[in-house]
This record gives sequence, C-alpha cells and structure tokens, in this order.
Amino acid sequence: MQKKKEVEAKLSELEGGISAEILQKYKALRADKQTNFPLVKGCKGGNCSLCGKAFSGVVQNQLSSETVTECEYCHKFIFKL
Ligand SMILES: [Zn+2]
Repeated sequence: MQKKKEVEAKLSELEGGISAEILQKYKALRADKQTNFPLVKGCKGGNCSLCGKAFSGVVQNQLSSETVTECEYCHKFIFKL
C-alpha cells in the first residue's frame, strides 16, 4: 500500500505540470468511493501498467508531452516513468 503514497507524492510534485482537465478528472475519480486504487500509475514502454493494454499513438503522444494522461481503456491516470 506504500504505492498509493508514492503516487500521491509524485502527483503533488507534478501537479504544476498536469493539465487542469486531467487534474479535475483525477480529483473527481479520487472522490468517488467506488473507485479502486491505484488511480495513477507510472508506465514504462507502450503498455498500461494497470490494464496491460497497448496505448494508441494518441495516448503515447500525450504521455511524452504531458506529465499525466488518462488510459483510454481503464481510464486510470498514467505518467511516464
Ligand atoms: Zn489502462
């Protein structure tokens, strides 16, 4: 469960660089008690660490240009490690 803390720390560190849209979605998701953690996960390579699916080119581009983006499959938040 240390992962959650780690990610929260990472996220607050990144907060300035995250788009307002992503941040707002993240906060809404976090406020939803139905949602299971982790909400945010660092990913290496072209696959989501949470659902394991390969990112589309669009998401890969977002990952390289934004600090945090949303997985198009599981709708969790991902950032590039
Ligand atoms: Zn995913």
